[in-house]
Amino acid sequence: MNYPDHEKIPTDKTSRVISSPPSPLRGIRGKVIAPVTQLVSKGFLDHRIRSGIHKLKAELPHLVVGELHCHSVYSDGYFPVDAILHRASSLGLDFVVLTEHLAADRFPMAPVIQSINDRRDCIQDWRIKKSPPVTAYPAFEISTEQGHLISLFPEDYLKPGDLLTLEKRFLPFEREWLSLETAACWTRELGGVTVIPHPDLQRAYPFGVPIAFIQSHLTGLIDGIEDISAAHGFNRDYSGPLDLASIGSSDDHFNFLIGAAVTVYDGQRHKNLLSAIKARDTRAHCIDNSLGSLISVARKIL
Ligand SMILES: [Zn+2]
Ligand SMILES: [Zn+2]
Repeated sequence: MNYPDHEKIPTDKTSRVISSPPSPLRGIRGKVIAPVTQLVSKGFLDHRIRSGIHKLKAELPHLVVGELHCHSVYSDGYFPVDAILHRASSLGLDFVVLTEHLAADRFPMAPVIQSINDRRDCIQDWRIKKSPPVTAYPAFEISTEQGHLISLFPEDYLKPGDLLTLEKRFLPFEREWLSLETAACWTRELGGVTVIPHPDLQRAYPFGVPIAFIQSHLTGLIDGIEDISAAHGFNRDYSGPLDLASIGSSDDHFNFLIGAAVTVYDGQRHKNLLSAIKARDTRAHCIDNSLGSLISVARKIL
């Protein structure tokens, strides 16, 4: 499978053992865009997102609100795990699902695991006194033959022993392109849930799984689907007709749009996010879309 050159990363042995995150400002996109997004976040967007989340929780105090799809430096994001979790907490989010890419010959497993280790360490050593630690679920975004799939697991897999089980099970995906059904089955075997991100969006490589394929091949096999995506600029009801959990997220790579579109569930009815997704009892919610038009233009240019 071919990717645009600027998105390729080396796959030699050194890239497979990343002991520390690469620089947050890598490549031209990072050098140009990351500082701008930080300025816009601090000067404009953070306040709007924080206010929107606060208002939502004031209306429905039992609501659990979180980000379900974003990336750090361990795949193709531009900011480290702790910066993302700290900012998410300061915005009022209750959970964050970092979804590093796992893709054959492009995004190996080692950085995915390191990202999960980092979120565990960040939560255990929480340094932000003003806001509580978020729940940070183990998860990743797998490139399959039919498109991307988010696999999301119980918090138990943050423990090193359980995480090793996860790592061993999904290691084949760093070497070869396998089917989405395989990824979904393995996720379920290990007690996880799956979400289709950016459905129907086409790229030169398998990206958004077509709705027709979901209807014909994935009934009963997957659990949720993105209805709202801040980065991809859509707000649709895919989940209703497919009887899947409704998911809202950002697919943010710049620690910028996290919290602009969220997934919510009732904390009195469900003990955690996975329980709510399994019960199809989540809701996608748009917190702020003030930069929607700008992001649509930027997406076409970049
Ligand atoms: Zn994706
Ligand atoms: Zn993604």
